[in-house]
Amino acid sequence: MIPIVLVGAAGRMGRAVEQAVEGSPGFVIRARVDRAASHPAGASGWSADVAGVLEAGDVAVEFSDPEACAALATLCAQRGAGLVSGTTGLDPAQDEVVRSAARRVAMVRGANFSLGVAVLRRALRTALAALPPGWDVEIVERHHRLKADSPSGTALALAGDAAAARGGEGGEPRFGRGKGRTGPRAAGEIGVHSVRGGTWVGDHTVLLAGEGEWLELRHVAQDRLAFAHGALAAARFVAGAAPGLYTLEDVLATGSGPQ
Ligand code: NAD
Repeated sequence: MIPIVLVGAAGRMGRAVEQAVEGSPGFVIRARVDRAASHPAGASGWSADVAGVLEAGDVAVEFSDPEACAALATLCAQRGAGLVSGTTGLDPAQDEVVRSAARRVAMVRGANFSLGVAVLRRALRTALAALPPGWDVEIVERHHRLKADSPSGTALALAGDAAAARGGEGGEPRFGRGKGRTGPRAAGEIGVHSVRGGTWVGDHTVLLAGEGEWLELRHVAQDRLAFAHGALAAARFVAGAAPGLYTLEDVLATGSGPQ
């Protein structure tokens, strides 16, 4: 049994991971950590502070917030616990804290743990390798009204994939088109657009536009279980991996991805 310490357990993703564990043999949630008091009053196994519960050999699975993510990564390295981290929107300093902690224990990080987005990223690389460099790339992401960061980590990952496929040309993506006489689109630009509203779980479209034709690659997450099953596949991987910072691609390469 892989012992999971679930951080952000009362949140949308925390609850989805809880549900995924119920249907997945081989995992046990040893502790649920959340700073919010919204978990069932008096339920056993809940804690407000991960430092009081994390032990060597645990795998912490966290979907919480950037500050909590960086602090947890350091704690995992100190205690000898693995980490599966799904929080997005880390600043460069928080990112560096996680990278440095991953020198001591195994960690999988990902802006999107769904199998479909992993395949979308591969499909984008294939499409861009086959298309002339003059085709324009625009990424549109849609998420629920409560999402804290913008653009989504997945949109940034897709923009990074597109930039890498184009040989790193074009610099920073263009976030939104602005207002007024913004002028023609610059060659090689990668546009990223965020839409917020309602209860969208996650929707990413990559538009590839040429002369007189365009192609659309789209992934829609309808249920957070899609991310939760990927996080559990990552937890299984982390439990047996050497120290290092891994991605969902590394997990999928072992053939043990989400089912
Ligand atoms: P949410 O707000 O519903 O849940 C976050 C939970 O974390 C809350 O219950 C909050 O109380 C708790 N929390 C925050 N700081 C904490 C701390 N210091 N200690 C303990 N608990 C703490 O948010 P969500 O929709 O579940 O998303 C959480 C994160 O996961 C976001 O960054 C989101 O972008 C990301 N996310 C990633 C994926 C992926 O596949 N990687 C998928 C969905 C969401």
